[in-house]
Amino acid sequence: MVQRVGLYPGTFDPITLGHMDIIRRGSKLVDKLVIGVTTNPSKSPLFNLDERLAMVRRECAGIDTEIEVRPFDSLLIDYARSVGASMILRGLRAVADFEYEYQMAGMNQYLDASIETVFLMADVALQPIASRLVKEIAGLGGDISKFVSPDVRDDVMAQLSARKA
Ligand code: ADP
Repeated sequence: MVQRVGLYPGTFDPITLGHMDIIRRGSKLVDKLVIGVTTNPSKSPLFNLDERLAMVRRECAGIDTEIEVRPFDSLLIDYARSVGASMILRGLRAVADFEYEYQMAGMNQYLDASIETVFLMADVALQPIASRLVKEIAGLGGDISKFVSPDVRDDVMAQLSARKA
């Protein structure tokens, strides 16, 4: 039987409850989910690549579907092809994501029409969560425990205090 492989790409700096909800929903649609963690140095991430890979692996440990967490820095569509993915999963939050995601999915259709982009909506309560705001709130001393797991919260607090030291 042909295995259905999905690719969920992102920066995951850090992985949030919104990402986790998309991963849980996406994992039900595929036999294997590859989570592609971008190196993305242009975003100057709070966590380096190895830290983000380790965090995503730890957070996904309890999920039944086969999950593979891998770094990538190539063109998304090429990377999808190289891991045998027939679909790219993306989370769609209200209006903010639409323009960018619409363009990216459209361009990717030109690059390889055989790979489908599938948009998933996170639980309504998790919609507003964005890694960028999690970092901003934590940096200003706010409580991020409603947006990330307790382990990720500890990682963010430790990273921020290491930076200040
Ligand atoms: P962010 O956009 O928060 O910096 P990523 O680049 O890691 O995070 O995002 C990876 C994917 O996850 C994107 O498709 C993004 O739209 C989606 N995503 C992130 N947060 C949420 C959320 N709260 N609800 C739904 N999708 C989300």
